[in-house]
Order: sequence, then structure tokens, then C-alpha cells
Amino acid sequence: MLWLIDLDGVVWRYTTLIEGSDDGIALVRSAGDPIRFVTNNSTLTRAQYVEKLAGMGIAAAEEEIITSGMALARCINPGERVLGIGEDGLLDELKAAKCELVVPRSLEDAMQAETVALGWYRKFSYVDMSNACVAIRNGARFLATNQDPTYPLESLIVPGTGALVASVIASTGVTPEYAGKPGAAMVDLVKELAGESTLMIGDRLTTDGTFAKLLGVDFAWVASGIEEEPDASIPVSIKAPNLLEAVRTRLGQGR
Ligand SMILES: [Mg+2]
Repeated sequence: MLWLIDLDGVVWRYTTLIEGSDDGIALVRSAGDPIRFVTNNSTLTRAQYVEKLAGMGIAAAEEEIITSGMALARCINPGERVLGIGEDGLLDELKAAKCELVVPRSLEDAMQAETVALGWYRKFSYVDMSNACVAIRNGARFLATNQDPTYPLESLIVPGTGALVASVIASTGVTPEYAGKPGAAMVDLVKELAGESTLMIGDRLTTDGTFAKLLGVDFAWVASGIEEEPDASIPVSIKAPNLLEAVRTRLGQGR
């Protein structure tokens, strides 16, 4: 079977491994099953994710990493003028999509963009917000990596991409197309891999759970990240405190 595993709030909280997640992944590996790490966090490149996982004792290949930056890049046409606002992970995927990145020195420059691509950006400024807003008011498409309003640090919750997106919505009245979970671009990207027996493990019902539902695969909801209220419209196959227990439960069911 295929295992789709979220990273933030499931494998780690920011830079700290969630206890047992390395053992959980090792159990899946020893069962010989394929894994894809599916994250809405577009800050790191695939290579940087491999490095971060390795630093926590989890071996992974770049091909196993799927980010919201990759999903967003699927919506971009070669040669399209794109105002990319985000970190390495998003900008690298935009470059790989062969678009023309707009690097504005003025609001007039920003208005040259045909598309605004916004991801989590921890240096997001009023200038970035203004560039995005004038471009969108000028008719640019608005794409965002994800809607997650929060991000789980080790013990605190900080604003996520959704909070940045909300500032642009407030000023333009335009809602973006979201590429990451549970957006259509990510569903299409992962649909090619998902088979009859697939389990998505995530901490967010609204993103991971809805994503699993749209993919038509089972969902394991873990409590190691963001806490959310249950929602009867989103099916949950396994409810577990963490990744390790979710893996044990599924393997115990004979997969
Ligand atoms: Mg998560």
C-alpha cells in the first residue's frame, strides 16, 4: 500500500522530531511499502527536505517529497510572468516551471506580472503585500500554495500562509486558487500515485482530511500538530495520538 505522510505536525514540529515518527517511518519501510511525504509547506526545496529528514535520522529520496510549491508550479505556463512571493522551495519550483520571474523594484514593475504566486514567506512585508495587491488589481491571476492559517512551532502556534493570503484578500477582494492540500492541483499531482490501498496521515482535518476524501483514500488523523474540531463530513479511518500509533494501527489491520 501507499503511505501519504504530512510533515509539519506529523513528522516534526518545526525543527523538533515528534517522538516515535522516525520509528513509524522505519516500520513502513520494513513493510516494503512506498511513501510520499506530502506537505503544504513551500519554504524548503525537495533537496532541503531530504536533508532535514536525514538530520532527524529519516532517510528519504527527493522523489518521495511532494510540496505545495510543486503543485502550484503545475498551474504555471512556460514564459508566464510570475510574481513569486515565498521562500526557496516555491521559487525553485517556479524556476523549474520555466516562467519569467518578476522581480519588482516598484509597484509599476509588479503590475507586469500575469500571475501572483504566494507561499509561506517569513520575511513577508508591506512591500510584498502591496506588490501582490496592485498586480491582482491589474488583472493578474492569484495563486497560493495553501490556506493553512497557522503553523505549529514546538510549543507555540504562529501565522501560516493563510494569514498572508488573508491580507491580500482583504485589500483586493480576490480569493486565490489554492494549489496545496486539499486543492485541485495537489489532488491531480497525487492522484497519479494513489492506488486502491492508500492511507493519508495528517494532523489537519480541513486540509489533510479533505484531501484524503477528494482522493478517495483512507485518512489517519493524528493529534501531534494543530488541534481541530471533528467534522462529520470528513471521514476518519484511524484516530491516533501520533504517526507511530497510526502506523501500528494500520499495520495491525493487515493494511
Ligand atoms: Mg500538518
